[in-house]
Amino acid sequence: MRRVLLLGGGHAHAGVLRTGIPGALTLVTPYAQHVYSGMLPGFIAGHYRLDEIRIDVAQLAARAGVKLVLGRVAALDAAARRVRLEDGSELEYDVASLDVGSHAAAPEYALAAKPFETFMEQWLEAKDRVRSVALVGGGAAGIELAMAVAHRTNARVTLYSDRPMFRPGLARRIARQLARHGVELRAGVAFADRMRKDHDLVIWTAGAAALPWLVHSGLATDERGFVLVDNRLRSVSHPEVFAAGDCATLRGAPHPKSGVFAVRHAPVLAANLGGEEQRYAPQRRALALISCGSRYAIADWGGVSWQGAWVWRWKDRIDRRWVEGFRL
Ligand SMILES: Cc1cc2nc3c(=O)[nH]c(=O)nc-3n(C[C@H](O)[C@H](O)[C@H](O)COP(=O)(O)OP(=O)(O)OC[C@H]3O[C@@H](n4cnc5c(N)ncnc54)[C@H](O)[C@@H]3O)c2cc1C
Repeated sequence: MRRVLLLGGGHAHAGVLRTGIPGALTLVTPYAQHVYSGMLPGFIAGHYRLDEIRIDVAQLAARAGVKLVLGRVAALDAAARRVRLEDGSELEYDVASLDVGSHAAAPEYALAAKPFETFMEQWLEAKDRVRSVALVGGGAAGIELAMAVAHRTNARVTLYSDRPMFRPGLARRIARQLARHGVELRAGVAFADRMRKDHDLVIWTAGAAALPWLVHSGLATDERGFVLVDNRLRSVSHPEVFAAGDCATLRGAPHPKSGVFAVRHAPVLAANLGGEEQRYAPQRRALALISCGSRYAIADWGGVSWQGAWVWRWKDRIDRRWVEGFRL
């Protein structure tokens, strides 16, 4: 029987585990539970319990008859079809599928928003004593976390963003919400000295970077180190390797690295790992739902946006339904 290695238990592989595919499957993941990023700011804001925002990938694997290895990939040798884990053990494969996400390449003085598990642990430990919190990165993650922190704590919150991330109309809506939460928005580069002096916690969300071992794997990657895949989500250099979610870049039609796309990869990945030939076509417009600290949110779709408590309830329903779809 062909040996299929699923590396990482992210959004796309959760979908694959739910569908089930033929072969002798092994899942390698550092954590038995996967944190759903869409609800993470809601957890920080105090709207969700931890068990409400996690998917139990270990249970999904058990139900699908997939062997679970709790560990972290340290190296992949695409030529030898072999993976080495951080504990030194090695696994060989006939087919490998990568859904290992991206990481926030944070400097040593900052708390990276990823991995979520470390971030949440350190945040819970720090949240009651912080007086001044900085967030670096003005994308959706930085904005949502800034407002969540401001909502949950009495800390002074500053958001550093070195470039505009949204079209002007949406940016104005976001700026108003940041101001409503007392979040100070500073344009420009965040300098280490100033960060250390002015804030007692710096949270880093800027720049989704590829996991370093991907670059040395022998797989073809884009200029940032993400695995280049064709429209079947197969590596363009090694067809027995698939990649989905943030760690993959679609050749010729790259799209943003966000959970929305990782979720859409899942059914195509499952079909192709199962031996079908399904093609992935990224949607041209993706719905963005940005939570704003309190139970309030902004929605944006195709250049039109809305906001209100009803948008938060809408987002809450979508997110809960998605996570609940994985409960056994
Ligand atoms: C604070 C925050 C909020 C966000 N909110 C949203 C949102 O509302 N909507 C949205 O669309 N996107 C959001 N994003 C972006 C979103 O998190 C990512 O795009 C999404 O998680 C990508 O899914 P993925 O499956 O590729 O990777 P991930 O969800 O990161 O999953 C990767 C998995 O691989 C595992 N892994 C990592 N390294 C290894 C290794 N070496 N070996 C084995 N396993 C490994 C991890 O433990 C994890 O389980 C947010 C990001 C942040 C930081």
